[in-house]
Amino acid sequence: MKKYALPAIMLAVFETIAISLWLTKDDLFYLFNFSYIGISISLGIFLYIREYKHARRITQLLVGLYMLVYLGLICNENMQIEGFWYYLFTGVFEAATIHYAVAKIFGPLLFGRGWCGYACWTAMVLDFLPYKVPEQPRKNIGWIRYVMFVISLVFVSALFLSGVGHIESIMFWAFLIGNILYYGVGIFLAYRFKDNRAFCKYICPITVFLKPMSYFSVLRIKCDKDKCVSCGKCKKVCPMDVDVTDNSRKRKNGTECILCFECVKACPKDAL
Ligand code: SF4
Ligand code: SF4
Ligand code: SF4
Repeated sequence: MKKYALPAIMLAVFETIAISLWLTKDDLFYLFNFSYIGISISLGIFLYIREYKHARRITQLLVGLYMLVYLGLICNENMQIEGFWYYLFTGVFEAATIHYAVAKIFGPLLFGRGWCGYACWTAMVLDFLPYKVPEQPRKNIGWIRYVMFVISLVFVSALFLSGVGHIESIMFWAFLIGNILYYGVGIFLAYRFKDNRAFCKYICPITVFLKPMSYFSVLRIKCDKDKCVSCGKCKKVCPMDVDVTDNSRKRKNGTECILCFECVKACPKDAL
């Protein structure tokens, strides 16, 4: 039973968040929302332990589609970074701000970039593309993410400062158009650089939060040096070019790890 501790812990963490927010905000939505996400994540980890090949993808689809279709399109919550700025500026501590706080700002201190591996609706689509393992060396254009981050902030600030009306409706269209652009650029870059996760590596502005916070992550893949025979198979399958055999927090591309466990599956010596 010990091997099922991780899905149980994840479920307990999400249920604690669900119940706390439900009681403090007196809104059943939070109980439903975080219970659903917690169950989806725990199910994925449980299936992974049972060695089901598509475990991570199931969680990714369950959470990604829920966020994109239900929260984004049906409930009109802009869950993109612009939505985060918008709700932050209006002082409304609602779904989008709570989502960012849990999944992308404070959560990564515990589960690193688990969001990127198990929940993001952009990667949910990109992971269907053929280049699961990058076929070209990493490019030196990661600075684009900071430009995107500033653009999103300037865009929402300009809306507030100019005093335009119907910002809610603008935010909904920004969510829709932003997602279409993200998918378009993500798919283009995946084929251009022969790397499904090129968008994550160079463009995504959310990594400006995710990278520094996941540096301190409690959950991380570690290498047992006594078992490792330096065969390099782990690095060959990594979609994010992480030097996973180095246990230091400063390891190469360490803050890029999406906890997909491909390296763990590939290791012939059970060293990870
Ligand atoms: S880096 Fe951005 S696009 Fe990629 S999985 Fe993470 S949040 Fe999604
Ligand atoms: S293959 Fe391993 S090191 Fe690379 S992203 Fe996945 S879990 Fe992290
Ligand atoms: S696959 Fe395993 S044995 Fe090979 S280098 Fe990686 S950790 Fe070491």
